[in-house]
Amino acid sequence: MGKVMTWVVIGLLVWGAWRLWTISRVRAERARDAARAAGDPPAAAGGNDGDAAEAGREPRRPNAPELMMQCAVCGVHLPGSEARFSGGKVYCSDAHRDAAGVAGPVDATRRDGR
Ligand SMILES: [Zn+2]
Repeated sequence: MGKVMTWVVIGLLVWGAWRLWTISRVRAERARDAARAAGDPPAAAGGNDGDAAEAGREPRRPNAPELMMQCAVCGVHLPGSEARFSGGKVYCSDAHRDAAGVAGPVDATRRDGR
């Protein structure tokens, strides 16, 4: 009988250790998910330091998109790969690049035409 009790105790200890390990793993995953889901509130609570917090947080995101650019014409933000560059400025589309950048050349062409 004593041997049986010993095995029961050992089994309970093993089961308890396994449960602790599982719970701690689940807790770590939940904490990570919660931190990811609640990533914005802390920055918002920062108030005026929101920009600094955001700048520090940006590179940490695994799925962070590339650098965001701002159109010089309409001010819309877009990824760098979709941006048009002309004269050191950024535009969201060919239309806006033309609208902002072609003004000079068009005048020159018109002068030539006349
Ligand atoms: Zn634009």
